[in-house]
Amino acid sequence: MPIHVSNVALLCSKCGPTRVGYRFEPDGTKVRVCRKCGGDV
Ligand SMILES: [Zn+2]
Repeated sequence: MPIHVSNVALLCSKCGPTRVGYRFEPDGTKVRVCRKCGGDV
């Protein structure tokens, strides 16, 4: 089974390895965000 993107750990510059969340910008752009600090990943 492929790994679901929501479970992929990304490397946050602030937190290190972290779970990723998504945020939609007003223009519709999907942006990956760190679940810990909320920053863009
Ligand atoms: Zn972070």
